[in-house]
Amino acid sequence: MNPNYSKLLEKEIQKLQENGVKPKLLLHSCCAPCSSYVLEYLREFFRITVFYYNPNITEEREYEYRLLEEKRLIAEYNRQVEMQDFSCMNTTAGAMKIGILEAPYDPERFLTAVRGYEDCPEGGDRCAICFAMRLEAAAKAASKGGFDFFTTTLTISPLKNAERLNEIGKRAGEKYGVAFLPSDFKKKNGYKRSIELSRQFGLYRQDFCGCTFSKKQRQSDTLGGNSGKISGSDLPGSRKGV
Ligand code: SF4
Repeated sequence: MNPNYSKLLEKEIQKLQENGVKPKLLLHSCCAPCSSYVLEYLREFFRITVFYYNPNITEEREYEYRLLEEKRLIAEYNRQVEMQDFSCMNTTAGAMKIGILEAPYDPERFLTAVRGYEDCPEGGDRCAICFAMRLEAAAKAASKGGFDFFTTTLTISPLKNAERLNEIGKRAGEKYGVAFLPSDFKKKNGYKRSIELSRQFGLYRQDFCGCTFSKKQRQSDTLGGNSGKISGSDLPGSRKGV
């Protein structure tokens, strides 16, 4: 049976609370909508820095727009902390301000790494390479920056395999000597809450995961090329490929 990563995270948080500590967490984020719930949930328990490293977003304009939205969301959350104004949020006064660390944009690195896997369906081997690339970079940055933990927002997506992500994250943590925080953020209505928060703050919610291949897949599905396979848009309130 697969471990319940959501419960593992709850246990870790409980331990921290019993010890009265708020450790430093480097949170890899793919975009503002996915981080909206994760930040709302974790900012009470950790001193968070968002790590924006997404070379898989192969169009620069898209990359920049997602980054701008991430910064806008963080600024809004930090304003709430300054004003102690948490109306419409599931947050208490223990919430802390959030920082951001931007890694250089490097789509060529991603395109080189996934060469030969261009036609893999979303969720397949190309995605495993993509996850490892981003989580390894996060682990390395967390180790260099003296963080206590690192993790990723990616487990909030109903289209991404939480077990695979947690295994890759754990391996990356072991390689760089920093603890990986287990998660399955879609649980406990996390995905649903991310949609509510995205609406609340008018966040840009892209309809494809990030790479040019996922965009093509999305376009082909829109044109009717989806031959009966279950995709993201078949999920209630979902956007495909996120
Ligand atoms: S579909 Fe998403 S996770 Fe998979 S390779 Fe493309 S950007 Fe990465």
